[in-house]
Formats: sequence, structure tokens, C-alpha cells
Amino acid sequence: MRALCWHGKEKVSIDSVPDPKIEHPGDVILRITATAICGSDLHLYNALVPTLDDGDILGHEFMGEVVEKGSAVTRLQVGDRVVNPFTISCGQCFFCKREQYSCCDTTNNDPKRALAEKMMGHATAGMYGYGHMTGGYPGGQAEYVRVPHADIGPIKVPAGLPDDKVLFLSDIFPTGWMAAENANIQPGDTVAVWGAGPVGLFTMRSAWMQGAGRVIAIDAVPERVELARSFGRADVIASFDPTEVYDTLQQMTGGRGPDSCIDAVGAEAHGHGVIDNVIDHTKDLAHLPMPRPHVLQQIAKCCRKGGSLSIPGVYLGFVNMFPIGTVMNKGLTLKTGQTHMQRYLMPLLDHVVRGDIDLSEIITHRLPLSDAPEAYKMFQEKRDGCVKVFMTP
Ligand code: NAD
Ligand code: ZN
Ligand code: ZN
Repeated sequence: MRALCWHGKEKVSIDSVPDPKIEHPGDVILRITATAICGSDLHLYNALVPTLDDGDILGHEFMGEVVEKGSAVTRLQVGDRVVNPFTISCGQCFFCKREQYSCCDTTNNDPKRALAEKMMGHATAGMYGYGHMTGGYPGGQAEYVRVPHADIGPIKVPAGLPDDKVLFLSDIFPTGWMAAENANIQPGDTVAVWGAGPVGLFTMRSAWMQGAGRVIAIDAVPERVELARSFGRADVIASFDPTEVYDTLQQMTGGRGPDSCIDAVGAEAHGHGVIDNVIDHTKDLAHLPMPRPHVLQQIAKCCRKGGSLSIPGVYLGFVNMFPIGTVMNKGLTLKTGQTHMQRYLMPLLDHVVRGDIDLSEIITHRLPLSDAPEAYKMFQEKRDGCVKVFMTP
């Protein structure tokens, strides 16, 4: 089959690779009908994730048709059309029983799990197309993919809904939803969301659906600012300047600050001004792709005292200048995590079926999978108004 393979920093290509096979009785094989590029894929593309091997298949947002199933699979049949969560969970372990699915303890069995344990104390669940610290599973930017624990992960999609209306249940809508949930939104609250990329945009809509009274977006890329206004129904501060963002947020909230502040940017945040840029650029040149603290500092500083911080943005390893003193002294609550996907798939599918939200509205580019290498470049450089790429093999 053809698949998008990683070959080093900013090097990906469509290669011919062996077809996946059923390896365990709980597996299914999907023929991919739609897949997307995520902001998380950029951390791989930019070689921020240290445990990719040459030739690994990328992609964790995908859906398709079941073409083969293992003998133990009971919920799915060959021919079913499903959308698949990006995390792999067993449904049986201590964590899955507590619905902490992205912490599943049985699905990450790559030898490099030891690296994650050494660094973080414990490893996460397995994830598709995300390197060997998260299980080393081949991803779904491909014609076919193996889906383990198929009775727990993929959900069937109603026939009337086309792929582009449901694909983003695979990651970014549940991620935006959990980001809003983690922000502890009370009726009428003011919620500020840094980053108007796909995750930020779904966070904004989720914040409204969870009772926010006002949503404020912070980003400075024009087409994303526009989507934050139209799709996210947010007021926008179009700036990466931390002083301007802080001052404006305080003005907008009578000097108190937003009730909840959400970092939907993560490790590759833009800094502002010469010093930030020189430091970030020097680290990049020295091949020290270290996570940047810019948005972490802003959410803690801007939030009202006693408020909530939520961090769906991905960070890896350690972050210098994390403002723990601000978090402590202001009495802030901080929640974060890889999304506990299986908790949200069915309830959010219901929202889609009811027409509460049209997930396809953020798609800016529809391309064949064969164009994926160019699409990665365009998405990374935010060229041609690229916000979300929807691809078909
Ligand atoms: P994206 O790269 O398309 O969007 C990031 C946005 O942040 C961009 O619009 C950029 O302009 C903006 N930004 C950069 N620096 C900023 C700053 N200083 N202030 C305000 N905005 C700034 O990515 P995405 O697909 O929207 O994903 C966002 C983050 O969420 C990524 O870190 C991704 O890895 C993460 N993510 C997490 C999960 C999870 O399970 N927790 C799942 C999916 C994605
Ligand atoms: Zn993703
Ligand atoms: Zn489990």
C-alpha cells in the first residue's frame, strides 16, 4: 500500500510499504477513506518528538471501512464505516475503568516505553503514528491501518453523514471538548483561548456549548482570526504581544481577568520581540528543540485569581520558565492531558447528528493523500490560508 512516511526533520514522502495484517484477535483492518494532518503531527515533522524511526508511518486522525476483522471482535463487522480515536485503549485496565483512556497501561508496549518511564515516571497509552515512546503504532495517513482493541476504539458512523462531517471526532473535536471541560466553565464565564488553530476553534465552540458567556480568542494569523470570529463566535485579540494581550484582556474583564484561560497552542508557540525570537531561533539552530513557555506564561498571568487553566496544547519533556509561582500564588487550578477519547466519542457524535456543530467548516484544503508531503509544508508554514487539511487516499 501507499503511506506517508517520516524520514527526518521536515522530510516526509509517500512510500510503498507492506499492507497491515491482523496481529491479534481483537484487531480490525481499516481501508482509510479520509485522514487529516494535526498540529500534533507538526511536532513530529519538526522532529520535536525524539523517538521516530526512519520510515515510520504518520497520521492519527482517520476513518474508514472495516475490511478484515480478528476472531475476538464482536462490535464491528466487515463493511462497517467507522471513525477512529487517536489513542489506543484496552477498556479493561485500572485507567480505562476510570475512563482515563489516554493513560491506558496495556497498549504501549514498544521497547522505548522505558524512555517515557525514565523521563515521566510512567508511559501514556499507545497512539497511532506518534513514535516509539507512545507504542510505535503505524499511523493512518495511509491506504490501510491496523486498529487494535477494535471493540473499544472505533465507532460506527450513521450512513447519512459524509466523512468530512465526522472525521474530526477522531481527535480535535473531543480534544477541544475536553479542553473546555478541563477549564471548569461555569454559566456565563469568560473563557480566553490562545491559538485559533483547529484545536482552539473546537475549544471555542465547546466552551459555548458548555455554558460560557463570553469567548475571547488570541491568535495573529489572519485566516485563523477570521475563523475564530465566524466559526468560534469569539471576540479576538489579534496579537502575539504578551503585554498587549494582558492589557486588552484586563480591559475586557473590568481588571479581573478571564475566569478560564486555555493554551491551545502548545510547545511551538511563537514568542514576541527580539529577545524571544533570538532565544527560540538559537535553540532551534543548536538542535535543542525545546518546548517554549510563552503561552504558559500568558495564561497564568492573564487568568483571574482563583481561576482555571486548561492545557490541551502538547508539551514534551521539560519547559524552562514555567510560571509555577504565579499558578501557586493566584490559587489557579490547572488541568491538562492527552484526550480521553473514548469518553467523548458517542456524546459528541450525538451533537454532530443533531446538527449542533458542522465539523467540516474548518476544512480549508481537500487533497489526495499523494499530496501529503506538500500539505505538511503548507500547514507548517501556514501558507495559502491553510488551517485544516482533509485528505483522501
Ligand atoms: P496549529 O499549529 O494549527 O495551531 C496552533 C495555533 O496557535 C496557530 O494558529 C498559531 O498561530 C497559534 N499561536 C502560536 N503562538 C501563539 C501565541 N504566542 N499566542 C497565541 N496563539 C499562538 O495546531 P492545532 O492542530 O490547533 O493544535 C494545537 C495544539 O493542540 C498542538 O500543540 C497540538 O499538538 C495539540 N493537540 C493536543 C491534543 C491532546 O490530546 N491534548 C490533541 C490534538 C492536538
Ligand atoms: Zn491530532
Ligand atoms: Zn486500558
